[in-house]
Amino acid sequence: MFPSFSLRPHRSLLAGTAALLLAPLGCATSTQARDEAALRTDAPPKVKPKWGLVIHGGAGVISRENLSPEREAAMRAVLTQALQAGHAVLAKGGRSLDAVTAAIRVLEDSPYFNAGKGAVFNHDGVNELDAALMDGKTRAAGAVAGVRHIQNPIDLARLVMEKSPHVMMVGDGAEAFAQSQGMPLVDAKYFYTEDRWQGLQRALEQEKAKAAPPVTPGTPPATQPPPVTPGAAPVSPVQPPATPGKSPASSLEPGVDPVTGDHKFGTVGAVALDQEGNLAAGTSTGGMTNKRFGRVGDSPIIGAGTYADERCAVSATGHGEFFIRYTVARDICARVEYQDLPLPEAANVVILDVLVKAGGEGGVIAMDREGNVAMPFNSSGMYRGSIGEDGTPSVAIFQGP
Ligand code: ASP
Repeated sequence: MFPSFSLRPHRSLLAGTAALLLAPLGCATSTQARDEAALRTDAPPKVKPKWGLVIHGGAGVISRENLSPEREAAMRAVLTQALQAGHAVLAKGGRSLDAVTAAIRVLEDSPYFNAGKGAVFNHDGVNELDAALMDGKTRAAGAVAGVRHIQNPIDLARLVMEKSPHVMMVGDGAEAFAQSQGMPLVDAKYFYTEDRWQGLQRALEQEKAKAAPPVTPGTPPATQPPPVTPGAAPVSPVQPPATPGKSPASSLEPGVDPVTGDHKFGTVGAVALDQEGNLAAGTSTGGMTNKRFGRVGDSPIIGAGTYADERCAVSATGHGEFFIRYTVARDICARVEYQDLPLPEAANVVILDVLVKAGGEGGVIAMDREGNVAMPFNSSGMYRGSIGEDGTPSVAIFQGP
């Protein structure tokens, strides 16, 4: 059902670009008329849609040299387990929304992916989690940002969607809402993993090295900042005034951890099409290592990192600031809706052309209501996988299988 993982981005990009160029305004009339008819009737596709699920576990600089065989095998096993959890829901005739949450919960519970248990640490040594969920059939959506005590943020996003009149809740308020719905808070220590803690220490050292003035002989050494204890109350170091024209959050420039080879970012997500032909999308993340000032990325922002409607569902991963400014998830679905582009071409144009030109790194997983799948990424790797009706999971990490 799904296209091969060896989809060559550049060839696809050419195809996508060509399709865009071949859609002159004069040809838009029939497309427009068709779309308007579809909007009026929400006409279901003629062929019964195939169903399935696609997941990602983050995109970035992922190289074979930096990923030990043991870690790779463990990550592939978790991705497979997530696919099977979602498939079990869909095979029973369950909703795409349930399949997406089931798959994401598995990834959140794994220490290998930057979400839930494996979340990265922010600048103050705290894990702050973001998540969003969207139902393509109804366009109901729920999102949470900056939560610190929620074991499975995707479940809280769902509660926001189903048990509140709102779309997005943040921080303490979101956690108070969780409690009001009977969801327990977990100790912040639950999110501690040694790998992520060491990742923060290296990011802090890199940041300090970059900021340090060149050493002049005879200059006394700079004062060391106090060590931060994991799970401790956040310490807010006094920040120097921002230099005009330079982002004060410049510590969020993409970088690679020299030990794990991981990017400073990562995320998990899922999109699914159920037997009824309904799509859903969800995304969950710890954001970017060393983030500060309450930074929130694209993952919980509907239309940026997460989006689903009746035609198209997208979950993104990458440098969130770009995905927000280019409303990546909605842009892909808008191209499907307004330009009548096949989903893979729409996704390729946005990820491999628009974002590349902008300097935004990352990728998406996407599905349309006919079961077509796209998984383009403009980084060296993206943890990803898909499963269709036959229940055979397929997992990939690098540019090849
Ligand atoms: N997009 C996420 C963020 O910016 C991180 C990621 O997907 O890697 O928070």
